Amino acid sequence: MPLTHYACAHCGFWQPWFAGQQPIFCPVCMDVRNALPPDGWDFRTVGDLTGAVETLWAEVAPNVIGFSCTPSFGLGSTGWLLLRPEGNVAFEGAPFYTESALAQVERLGGIKVLAGSHPHGFGAIWQLAERFRPEVVVHREALRFTKAFKVTWPADDDHQLAPGLTLHGTEGHYEGHAVLHDAGARALYCGDCLKVEFDGAGRPEAISCHKGFHYQIPLSHQELRRYREVIGALDFTAVYTPFEYAAGVTTAHAVALFDRLLAGRPSAKPIPLAELVP
Ligand SMILES: [Zn+2]
Ligand SMILES: [Zn+2]
Repeated sequence: MPLTHYACAHCGFWQPWFAGQQPIFCPVCMDVRNALPPDGWDFRTVGDLTGAVETLWAEVAPNVIGFSCTPSFGLGSTGWLLLRPEGNVAFEGAPFYTESALAQVERLGGIKVLAGSHPHGFGAIWQLAERFRPEVVVHREALRFTKAFKVTWPADDDHQLAPGLTLHGTEGHYEGHAVLHDAGARALYCGDCLKVEFDGAGRPEAISCHKGFHYQIPLSHQELRRYREVIGALDFTAVYTPFEYAAGVTTAHAVALFDRLLAGRPSAKPIPLAELVP
């Protein structure tokens, strides 16, 4: 039977399924970290989304373009495109790429290497994989979530995508979760290792980390120790989550958060940045 791609309208996760039939369920919504859709399953194809959802893009930092959707779809993720002289690198995906967004990626030089942190950040990276035929790199333990696209290079715990740009396996929030460190820009594409809260003026004011955000499930101490070991070794002064860019969240903030959580009972509560690094 012919296959097509379906996105879960609740969380945005894409999966291939038989054309003309709705998938049986969404594996990401079935997971303990997500809520079930309150109105039942609802899946959308590219045809359904075309004309209903637009893809916007903006340069959020020098040579970093963020792609997102309006109205918001799924979890409302942002796909990051890093413009690099040796070939562009894309990390995470917008929930959906319109034809004009794909044409914009093409004008910007296409994609040489494509990677993602975990299913909440993948969005529609399958569209980028099909259009631009990049090297597709995902941590080996996250392969189980990549039915919608073909991984060409399963990564181990430390994997260089380009000079100064390295993927690091963290586990913790998700099986096979990985972060991308840009040493030159001193930036961390942190996936859901860190969740950032913003004040009314759009400045980051607090951070937290969690196993499951919806039900506020904290990480175990062993998971936090792994975060501390991996993320604490990376120098950064800004983070890109799958949703937003947060300048001013630093390695020191992250390490102080992990230490705070390791000192007591598990918690997924946000801690003000000013408390972490006075
Ligand atoms: Zn879902
Ligand atoms: Zn997540």
